[in-house]
Amino acid sequence: MCPYCGARFLYGQVKRMGGRGTGRCPHCGKVFRITSGRGRAALFCAAAAALVCLNLLLMQAPAVGMTFLLGVTAAGVAGAWLLLPYTARYRKK
Ligand SMILES: [Zn+2]
Repeated sequence: MCPYCGARFLYGQVKRMGGRGTGRCPHCGKVFRITSGRGRAALFCAAAAALVCLNLLLMQAPAVGMTFLLGVTAAGVAGAWLLLPYTARYRKK
């Protein structure tokens, strides 16, 4: 969200601006600073905890193989990675 005009950014715009440095608001054209904030660490902790629990649960099922467990883990990591742009915070310069 833009700190000047409050405009919400589309996912593609957030991704293009990256996780750090500066970005320009496509609405008002003002330049702001991008910081990754504490959300990033929290997101990774939550994702890791969820994946460990999920793996432990799936291991109880006899038909679940290692390949499936790895697939689930990879999907979870990819999901967390996709959410990363949402952890960015925008500050006025
Ligand atoms: Zn703006």
